[in-house]
Amino acid sequence: MGEMEDLCVTECTRCPALVDSRSRIVNGTGPEDADMVFVGEGPGAQEDADGEPFVGRSGTVLDDGLRTVGLARDDIRITNCVRCRPPENRDPHKAELENCRGYLERELDRLDPDVIVTLGKVPSEHLLGRSVAVTKEAGSVEDVRIEGTPRRVLICVHPAATLYDRSQEETFENALQRAAELADVEGSEGGQTRLDGF
Ligand code: URA
Repeated sequence: MGEMEDLCVTECTRCPALVDSRSRIVNGTGPEDADMVFVGEGPGAQEDADGEPFVGRSGTVLDDGLRTVGLARDDIRITNCVRCRPPENRDPHKAELENCRGYLERELDRLDPDVIVTLGKVPSEHLLGRSVAVTKEAGSVEDVRIEGTPRRVLICVHPAATLYDRSQEETFENALQRAAELADVEGSEGGQTRLDGF
């Protein structure tokens, strides 16, 4: 069995409401050795139709933002807190987030990324375990333990926020810039010293 298969959830019926609303399970995409993992909330209509995270309007914003800071979708891993589309795009319920958490933790364990970028309030609060004022805190980095392992989380606004409020574009791009820098720093000699300061 290929490693990729382990990260693909092919059958799950833990969340009755999501089993009803989904067309398919939407797994993470991107290289398993990516330095950065971007975590969204859950699939929307387009993602549910295509079976891939961030392929709708939010995905276009994400791709554009990545390009602006010199990254490409192929360089990063993209996944979600829940893998099934909630009805009418409502936020995932607490129990649904918990039901899906093990899949996300397994993905983070496998990837062991330099930085996890949380796209929006739901993934930020889910991974940091506290309430997050995402617009205010976007661009800030927090070290947390996820399943006992120290992880570096960079808070970012959800790409869709820029569609509703143009002033969020800069916030979004600055956070992506920071993500790119963090991954570069890790990859470069002596970078650890700088990271230790965070
Ligand atoms: N919004 C998300 O949070 N995730 C997706 O995959 C698409 C839109």
